[in-house]
Amino acid sequence: MVKFALYDQNYSMKVVVLGAGIIGTTSAYFLAKNGHEVTVIDRQDSVSMETSHANAGCLSYGFTSPWASPGLPLNALKWALTGRSPLIINPKLSSETIKFLFRMYKNCNSLSYEINKSRMLRIASYSQKALLEIENDFEINYEQRKQGSLQLFWDTKEIDKIAKDISILEKFNIQSKILDPKECIKVEPALKYAKNKLAGGIHFKNDFTGNCYLFSTEIYKKCLEMGVHFEFNTVIDSVKLNNNEIFSVLTNKGQFKADTYVVSLGSYSKKILSNIGIEIPVYPVKGYSITMPVLSDKDAPQSTIMDEKNKIAITRLGDKIRVAGMAHLTDFNKHLREKSRESLVTGLDLIFPKGYKSSNNVNFWTGFRPSTPDGTPIIGNTPYKNLYLNTGHGTLGWTMSAGSGKLLSNLISGIDPEISTEGIDMSRYSFSNKTEFNYG
Ligand SMILES: Cc1cc2nc3c(=O)[nH]c(=O)nc-3n(C[C@H](O)[C@H](O)[C@H](O)COP(=O)(O)OP(=O)(O)OC[C@H]3O[C@@H](n4cnc5c(N)ncnc54)[C@H](O)[C@@H]3O)c2cc1C
Repeated sequence: MVKFALYDQNYSMKVVVLGAGIIGTTSAYFLAKNGHEVTVIDRQDSVSMETSHANAGCLSYGFTSPWASPGLPLNALKWALTGRSPLIINPKLSSETIKFLFRMYKNCNSLSYEINKSRMLRIASYSQKALLEIENDFEINYEQRKQGSLQLFWDTKEIDKIAKDISILEKFNIQSKILDPKECIKVEPALKYAKNKLAGGIHFKNDFTGNCYLFSTEIYKKCLEMGVHFEFNTVIDSVKLNNNEIFSVLTNKGQFKADTYVVSLGSYSKKILSNIGIEIPVYPVKGYSITMPVLSDKDAPQSTIMDEKNKIAITRLGDKIRVAGMAHLTDFNKHLREKSRESLVTGLDLIFPKGYKSSNNVNFWTGFRPSTPDGTPIIGNTPYKNLYLNTGHGTLGWTMSAGSGKLLSNLISGIDPEISTEGIDMSRYSFSNKTEFNYG
């Protein structure tokens, strides 16, 4: 039974949420919980059928970091030289790719990294509380495990570099512990096969794992019970303006009108917003995953393992292992790149060679992370008074979903946000008028 937290029935509004990925779905849940009349529109026939479908499944409340870090440019160069790069850039660079790379590069310095990481951690920590609130609202099963996550190091130099990150984590009371190889194996016994190569790890004991798609479908069912209306198989074409407000959403099934609108279209948010003069720097960073059956429990991961060097995450989801990673900059090209599948299998083999059932029938999948150059999502209002954004969650949308949905719902409902919104909405891009942004 969901406990409704109706603040004041008089403020109940009609809200249309554009997009039923994990972000749109959790937004709908918290909006309904705050007493609003919610309709969610999506082109797919169910929730979370695009980027939220087969992600790595890590709820990385502690392991929350922007990709743009001081070490990234050098790493990118090294990856390019070794030929085994988790970062792949289409040589036919589009202007969008160039813009994204340039903006990301501008964030690859210590000061930006600290600011961005702090903002992301703020949302992630809040999201953990919001997820626990959902678990308290009703019984929900999403193959969740609450056994922490472990970031591996293959070189002792990497351990030395982590000191600065730990000081930021401490500010947010995030518990982390540097482990030597033996201690890593205590946490994840099947790491015994990688013992000789391992330099150590950092353990985030309060991180969770879980199946994002399963979670979304459970939230969807609860939303239906709460009176949320879903319009599936409905393609959003544009939004129609009336002076300084959104008048309606135009779709292949006609127009939808509401008091308030939320854009949570993942990587596709940018295009719809661009048509009404809002430019947000969201770029589709393509990633891949494979999902395979567990062969032997004792040789398989129990929770989440992150291999930052090879940029992959390996997660236990029920009786399956999911390996996800790679950053492929190729705009909206959905092609399943065979070499990326091979890299994921190689990465798994390196760490858990005996844990998975090898089969040609691995569930090979791709999705576009809706990425901002600073790693922080964009949550909050816009120059149009009835338009809100909840998008740009990049690599950590599953982790940040519950908190983002709750924060957005509170903002729309006029409830004081429970966390600071500094640097979270689009105004951090020095918004000056509807068409100009300054990324400097
Ligand atoms: C390989 C990979 C691994 C990842 N691993 C993790 C992880 O371990 N932990 C983590 O926290 N995050 C992870 N992520 C990131 C996470 O999956 C995303 O941040 C998150 O799914 C984004 O959710 P979203 O709802 O914003 O976007 P989406 O899930 O893409 O939802 C957008 C929705 O909008 C709909 N839509 C778009 N355009 C239209 C239109 N014109 N008309 C109608 N509907 C439309 C789509 O159908 C879709 O349902 C990973 C991502 C990838 C690719």
